[in-house]
Amino acid sequence: MVADTKLYDVLGVSPDATEQQLKKAYRLGALKFHPDKNPSPEAAEKFKEMTAAYEILSDSEKRDLYDQYGEQGLNGGGMGGMGGMDPSDIFSQFFGGGGARQQGPVRGRDIKHSLACSLEELYKGKVAKLALNKTILCKDCDGKGGKNVQKCSGCNGTGTKFVTRQMGPMIQRFQTQCDKCNGQGDIMKESDRCKNCKGKKVANERKILEVNVYPGMKEGQKVVFEGEGDQQPDVIPGDVVFIIEEKPNDLYTRKGDDLYINQKVDLLTALAGGEIAFYHVSGEWIKIEILAGEVIAPGSTKVISGKGMPIPKHGGFGNLLVKFEVEFPPKNFTTEEKLKELETILPARHVVKIPKGVSVDDSCTLDDFDPSRHTSRSSNARGGYYDEDDDEEGGQPGVQCAQQ
Ligand SMILES: [Zn+2]
Ligand SMILES: [Zn+2]
Repeated sequence: MVADTKLYDVLGVSPDATEQQLKKAYRLGALKFHPDKNPSPEAAEKFKEMTAAYEILSDSEKRDLYDQYGEQGLNGGGMGGMGGMDPSDIFSQFFGGGGARQQGPVRGRDIKHSLACSLEELYKGKVAKLALNKTILCKDCDGKGGKNVQKCSGCNGTGTKFVTRQMGPMIQRFQTQCDKCNGQGDIMKESDRCKNCKGKKVANERKILEVNVYPGMKEGQKVVFEGEGDQQPDVIPGDVVFIIEEKPNDLYTRKGDDLYINQKVDLLTALAGGEIAFYHVSGEWIKIEILAGEVIAPGSTKVISGKGMPIPKHGGFGNLLVKFEVEFPPKNFTTEEKLKELETILPARHVVKIPKGVSVDDSCTLDDFDPSRHTSRSSNARGGYYDEDDDEEGGQPGVQCAQQ
């Protein structure tokens, strides 16, 4: 299975043709269409095509690339990292100075930009106006470079020619700029040269593009401006592509169409009800009543339906998932008597269960955890020894138990 049969069709052979069959097909074609045998322009065109096809298919490496990727493969498309190379360069390499250009226009490279958007912008959508500096065909000469432009006979319009040099047993052929036209491929009288582009055929233009970021767009999505890439003579301009990049948000994270937020709630509100309110990416604030007795547990997640991101195409909105952090009151926030009242309100304490007959150490204390002192004890050069100026509350560092 080959990607494209065009070159095989040109030679009138099947894609599984052997080297001998290719050679034979080309020789027969040359006998029929060579300019010496057949002076018609159609024949000359056909001969060029056949030569181009044969030059590629007779090179096993090039043939492999073509079979796998079609002409894109020869254009670098299948090989990665070579994008934007003009295949006519490759084709012309087979012909040397007297060759022909590849028939049919070449497609230019796509220009890619990332477009950073805040979550708010992706929620509401926006039109981003961006200035694009691009190469365009000169408007004064329509990209021709001047008046009465002739194709350079030294390079047949390619701007390059080939020089063959013998290096030891090897004959090396390399490409060099055509000296007759200075690499332009065109010949014209100096007085006919376009004043605007000085014969370069192209000019620079600054263009403002309005990029429509629609509500609900996601990281990696593309906004494509077809054919807005750089213009070059005999090249179909590529596209300008903007790729959405979602900026991180201080409060929210996004997964698909859903939004996630962490929300603090005080213990009284969590138990006895009250209100919470927080900023939403729509720009509004969301106010929610927590019902008395609803009981928001630490780490629990609640859903606010329809407050996620807009869902493109299908309409509607994703959900907002609120994960609660319950803020407990500080130490000694009230008297022991008041705390006793909690016993009449809260569910009863769990009864402590210890298996019968085990030995019990009831001399341990709970101290506040300090990561700088209470972690990686083994990597601490001082071992279990603490400086005298440890002034931790209660004077007992760590959760320590009496030594047996
Ligand atoms: Zn030339
Ligand atoms: Zn011009």
